[in-house]
Amino acid sequence: MYYGTIKKTDIANGEGVRVSLFVSGCRNCCKGCFNRETWNFRYGREFTGETEAELISLLQPDYIAGLTVLGGDPFEEENQRVLAPFLERVKRTCPGKTIWCYTGYVWDRDLVPETGRKHCEVTDRMLAVLDVLVDGPFIEAEKDISLQFRGSKNQRILRFTGSTSEPN
Ligand code: SF4
Repeated sequence: MYYGTIKKTDIANGEGVRVSLFVSGCRNCCKGCFNRETWNFRYGREFTGETEAELISLLQPDYIAGLTVLGGDPFEEENQRVLAPFLERVKRTCPGKTIWCYTGYVWDRDLVPETGRKHCEVTDRMLAVLDVLVDGPFIEAEKDISLQFRGSKNQRILRFTGSTSEPN
């Protein structure tokens, strides 16, 4: 997996001051996407063990509420396979920090077992460690700059409870 940017103190992509990881690779091709360079799966730098260690270190200060993963699309299968074990590690080693994730796919259509086009062998593991999933493609016709943490009205902020994948 590759990533374009790490933001050390981000207040735009989730609640509180967060560390944000912008992964590379996206096949959603939303019209009006403001991040087209991140569609390329080889954009930016390779995500390595050193990157993981850097992120975990950045999450340590008390003023950091947690980690946000966005892109590109974290739910492209290639990215899920790297992110699922990494996010499990974050959950295990950074207690009290929340994990937010953004995807252009739709949670209850594309990420469900059997019929979901983006469901793979690690999807359930990845969903199980998320506190919040912001889902759905960016739709230019539904763009609304007054929305918090979202670009268009169709996108949803799904809050998960415990180890289940049911939004509350
Ligand atoms: S999901 Fe995000 S990165 Fe991908 S095309 Fe849509 S707006 Fe752009």
